[in-house]
Amino acid sequence: MLPRIDHLELVAPLYQKFAQKLQLQPFKGDVNCQYSARLAVATDNSIYQQLPQLVLHPKSKADIQLITVLANEDNFNEIKFSARGGGTGTNGQSLTPGIVVDLSKYMNKILEINVEENWVKVEAGVIKDQLNDYLRPHGFFFSPDLSTSNRATIGGMINTDASGQGSLVYGKTSNHVLALESVLANGEQLSTSPMDIEAAEELAKQENTYGNIVKQVLNSCRENRSLILKKFPRLNRFLTGYDLENVFNDDLSQLDLSRLITGSEGSLAFVCEAKLNLTPILKAKTLINIKYDSFDSALRHSPALVSAKATSVETIDSKVLNLAKQDIVWNSVSDLITDVTDKVMDGINIVEYNGTSIEALAEQVAQLTQRLDKDIKNNAGVIGYQVTTDLASINKLYAMRKKAVGLLGNTKGTQKPLAFAEDTAVPPENLADYIVEFRELLDSYGLDYGMFGHVDAGVLHVRPALDMCDTEQEKLLREISDKVVALTAKYGGLMWGEHGKGYRSEYSPAFFGEQLFTELRKIKTAFDPLNKMNPGKICTPIDSNESLVSVDDTKRGFYDRQIPVQVKDSFKSALECNGNGLCFNYDADSPMCPSSKITRDRRHSPKGRAGLMREWLRLLEQKGVDVLSLEQNIQGWSVKRLLEQSIHKIRNKFSIENKEDFSHEVMDAMSGCLACKACASQCPIKVDVPDFRSRFVNLYHTRYFRPLKDHLVANVEILAPLMAKAPKLVNRVIESKLYDKLSSATIGYVNTPLLSVPTLNENINNGIKQGKYDSFDLTTLQQLSDQERLKYLLIVQDPFTSFYDAKTVETMMELAYKLGFKPVLLPFKPNGKAQHVKGFLARFAKTSQNTANFLNELHQLNIPMVGVDGSLVLCYRDEYKQVLKENRGEFEVLLAHEWLIKHVNEKPTPFKDIQKINYKLFAHCTEKTMLPNSEKQWSAIFKQFGLSLDIVPVGCCGMAGTYGHEKANFENSKGLFELSWQPKVNSLNEEQILVTGFSCRSQVKRLGNIETKHPIAALLANL
Ligand SMILES: Cc1cc2nc3c(=O)[nH]c(=O)nc-3n(C[C@H](O)[C@H](O)[C@H](O)COP(=O)(O)OP(=O)(O)OC[C@H]3O[C@@H](n4cnc5c(N)ncnc54)[C@H](O)[C@@H]3O)c2cc1C
Ligand code: SF4
Ligand code: SF4
Repeated sequence: MLPRIDHLELVAPLYQKFAQKLQLQPFKGDVNCQYSARLAVATDNSIYQQLPQLVLHPKSKADIQLITVLANEDNFNEIKFSARGGGTGTNGQSLTPGIVVDLSKYMNKILEINVEENWVKVEAGVIKDQLNDYLRPHGFFFSPDLSTSNRATIGGMINTDASGQGSLVYGKTSNHVLALESVLANGEQLSTSPMDIEAAEELAKQENTYGNIVKQVLNSCRENRSLILKKFPRLNRFLTGYDLENVFNDDLSQLDLSRLITGSEGSLAFVCEAKLNLTPILKAKTLINIKYDSFDSALRHSPALVSAKATSVETIDSKVLNLAKQDIVWNSVSDLITDVTDKVMDGINIVEYNGTSIEALAEQVAQLTQRLDKDIKNNAGVIGYQVTTDLASINKLYAMRKKAVGLLGNTKGTQKPLAFAEDTAVPPENLADYIVEFRELLDSYGLDYGMFGHVDAGVLHVRPALDMCDTEQEKLLREISDKVVALTAKYGGLMWGEHGKGYRSEYSPAFFGEQLFTELRKIKTAFDPLNKMNPGKICTPIDSNESLVSVDDTKRGFYDRQIPVQVKDSFKSALECNGNGLCFNYDADSPMCPSSKITRDRRHSPKGRAGLMREWLRLLEQKGVDVLSLEQNIQGWSVKRLLEQSIHKIRNKFSIENKEDFSHEVMDAMSGCLACKACASQCPIKVDVPDFRSRFVNLYHTRYFRPLKDHLVANVEILAPLMAKAPKLVNRVIESKLYDKLSSATIGYVNTPLLSVPTLNENINNGIKQGKYDSFDLTTLQQLSDQERLKYLLIVQDPFTSFYDAKTVETMMELAYKLGFKPVLLPFKPNGKAQHVKGFLARFAKTSQNTANFLNELHQLNIPMVGVDGSLVLCYRDEYKQVLKENRGEFEVLLAHEWLIKHVNEKPTPFKDIQKINYKLFAHCTEKTMLPNSEKQWSAIFKQFGLSLDIVPVGCCGMAGTYGHEKANFENSKGLFELSWQPKVNSLNEEQILVTGFSCRSQVKRLGNIETKHPIAALLANL
């Protein structure tokens, strides 16, 4: 039996007191002391792990003031904070042993736009892509770019002075901040924007915090101006710390404190709101993907590309390219970066030109391509190029480039590419030589690494692969860090060229030099004398004896290495999550993590769940529990054992000490998962939450009772066929209000769907009588000749469509018949998916083996087998493989479109007069994430039928099997539907909407009040 897991790291008394007092204030946000909530923000994308004491989610600037005013009381002097946005920092910037103040959950509103004056005002938790989606219809965008644009916040961007692709033209975040509304550690508000120097001098006379800050900044930055200009590198990148240079304009007539806060890594103030300037969207872009025989050739070629007046030049090496080729993302760009015959492509540069029209760019593009043609002829390293002007394709290429860091994490073995020297910047003209030496350094340690970056700005992303569970390699990391700092200095650059300092802050004193570093400390003192704001980052106040964070501080590897190797291997995907945060994707139309989107709670994301799982495994190991043996022991079953377990479970249910079990917190996070599997394919590391979630649930219930609804769901494949024997009677009961109330109150199940009437069997028997279908008889099928078998099709049943949507199964039969085939409905065999989802793993193993045996026998017939519901058919390919391994056998069940695409290609069919409906496809998320070509294939099939089909980009519908029927999930299920599906469904005619998933059709019916069809119904209607 699973033991109880105590909370090991309790909240310190001071912080407990602070939390209690804060809750007595009119604070509207969330105060979270749970271990799980703290763990969820204990990591970012760096190698470090630091558990905070509390997590606060303020709802407004007023909330932040309440926090800071309270913390300013004498007895709370020791309280420390770190602001947090998307938590995508690569150097532990937002990690703190104090309080994490997460602005991303609620403070994410766009407050005001003024298109005449080109500005927008936003709360700090607004995500960069969210802002640009809002601005697009106005013809503007917020131009500093970064790879994490779908989850990084404006507050985070400001505090790291983020920039990325296109920075030569668009600059850094600091170039676009017009004004900031911040709150200081003492609770005072600070409004900053450029002010005349005279006004600043007047202010500096005031004896208050604001006056002291201005006085200090004037002193530090004016008196040391020449040293500052000498010391700060002339690069396109900022260095994070305090921008002593640009706090003044060129002629020193204006002072702008926002420039100090920008890039300060949360060490000066909480940024609550920002006024940002806007850049008009240029309508036309042309991208030239240049292919090279080596990465060195690509790098050496880049200065020529910059001088050809490109808007941006991005580079990718062969390692990253090859990883992209193995990822779902390649599907969208494979036509845009094709291989060159007889050549090996070992690097590419992506060159962008943008302007008002394609024609306006044509001359520049022509000049470059002529030059490239010459280079190809002269064997100058260029082996080919492709030009694209299509904006959708261009976006796909950049999406691939943005995924590159994540992809690097997906390398095999225990050594993983790590962020610690990953954003070096040197003057672009030094880049190629610098990289030769950088590579020599990494090669001298025999390290594996991939490279990509913004060559136009001299910024290169490199993540050498190391194993932080190995203490020797941890030492190596320090050694290499020191050497890279020296190497970048040698080439006139910076080690922290793009992603900020964080735990690399220990290099600050040496970098700035004693004199300037002292000025930084004086400025810190003026803003935050008690070192409350993100202590240890950038610098400490002048009289503080607290130290800076260090490269050697506690890393995630310290905790991970406590988990035995076999356990790590077994729960690989939870262990391999590298925290890049791609799963926090804000886009409502992306399938990636619906539970994260609807809750905005980091615990309910793949990253959150993976982190909790790791900690749970570690704590089990500390208790001396061999989790793998525990799993094995669950498999056996006997009446005696059941009785014993029940007694234990009753005891566990009622004992008070079990209320504090950490497993409950893990269970809570796992329960919110829709098991949609988007993470398993969309995450660059392929973190498969449903896999480890079902294993966890299985183990959890060795200690605690399963809820009744889990038993019902897991038994749906036994109950549905039984109920289908008297469907009208059952439906009468289910339809009654009393039943719904009772079911909601007792089982926790709502809106139970009605059974199909007439039943599938009734309809199919009619078809058999009419001679359209054959009944199933294995011997007859075995006796068919090879030629005859070509005409047959076996239809695999599933519990949902067969019993609740029989019409769709029959449609598949009818369609096959009309296309000239003999469809045969196979007897119903439980699929087991529901058992897997609910963590009945022993039963799932049995069910799946029985069904696999049956389907393998049929596989011998060499007749295609087709099922109509994506999530159940794909269970045969995924969960069956995971659980049965080689015992799964070779059987193959196709989805309708997979079979049709083959058939339609082979044999065009005569069609009747086509109905003129512009069909719209709403694809099931499991289907489109696991089979990334599925939507394209549906379009091709419809085209072949002479029909038009547009793909509607939608996220999760919110139903996901039985998730949406569970009372506890109803509000989230509804919220998800409203987020992406509802507006699109409402904008269309019912007859246009085609939905591949049974769950999705049920959800549209339940919440949209519309009966929708599977795409095969539209095909049949047009035959
Ligand atoms: C895969 C990957 C690719 C990346 N690519 C780029 C890139 O192309 N360009 C780039 O510049 N960076 C890049 N980064 C780094 C990171 O995404 C950026 O630094 C980003 O700006 C951080 O935003 P965030 O909202 O996640 O901030 P967080 O990580 O939450 O915080 C970053 C810092 O800002 C502070 N902070 C956050 N919000 C506030 C606030 N409201 N007030 C005060 N302080 C605050 C935090 O205390 C912390 O010091 C990348 C990271 C990853 C993982
Ligand atoms: S689950 Fe995947 S996408 Fe999310 S943080 Fe981990 S590795 Fe990144
Ligand atoms: S299965 Fe779906 S809901 Fe669950 S963690 Fe993965 S993406 Fe999120």
